[in-house]
Amino acid sequence: AAGRELLSPSDVQRTVARIAHQIIEKTALDSGDADAPRVVLMGIPTRGTTLANRLADKIEEFSGVRPALGSLDITLYRDDLRSRPHRPLERTSVPDGGIENALVVLVDDVLFSGRTVRSALDGLRDLGRPRAVQLAVLIDRGHRELPIRADYVGKNVPTSRAEDISVLLTEHDGHDGVYLHQE
Ligand code: 5GP
Ligand code: MG
Repeated sequence: AAGRELLSPSDVQRTVARIAHQIIEKTALDSGDADAPRVVLMGIPTRGTTLANRLADKIEEFSGVRPALGSLDITLYRDDLRSRPHRPLERTSVPDGGIENALVVLVDDVLFSGRTVRSALDGLRDLGRPRAVQLAVLIDRGHRELPIRADYVGKNVPTSRAEDISVLLTEHDGHDGVYLHQE
């Protein structure tokens, strides 16, 4: 079943644009201030990386400044690696200039327990020491198990644990949309 629509295609595009504006505002990335940190968007594969790419395009369109872009595979840092079925490693790519002293914005599609983000923080530690780390997610579905929150949220969606959210993006799925399913 298609599930209940939470975000239409145009909602997804508007939401990504809004987060891009908020990142520009909160990071002062276009201030021209020599003290302002370099901004690096790090997407968590797969759909977090796609969203990070879209955010970089929008941020460049709105501010004239293109943030650095990378991706961070967190497979090896998960604390439940042993209990989860094997899945192939995704790509980690660090932009030129690295993340040392940068303002890193982690980007993911859905925030749930917070364990993926915790793993991403571990992964970042092996790449350098950012000045600060922020988090952008398209959907926050609640049920946190760790003291983690997002700085930028496309939509807060109260869910039950039995529900599941589909995030569809044109690059992977042929069209944009977010749906809620009963499992
Ligand atoms: P967490 O680690 O916070 O429990 O879960 C977040 C990670 O699992 C994200 O990378 C996200 O892609 C995936 N995830 C968790 N719940 C959902 C969901 O309901 N729908 C989708 N599409 N992904 C989810
Ligand atoms: Mg994911």
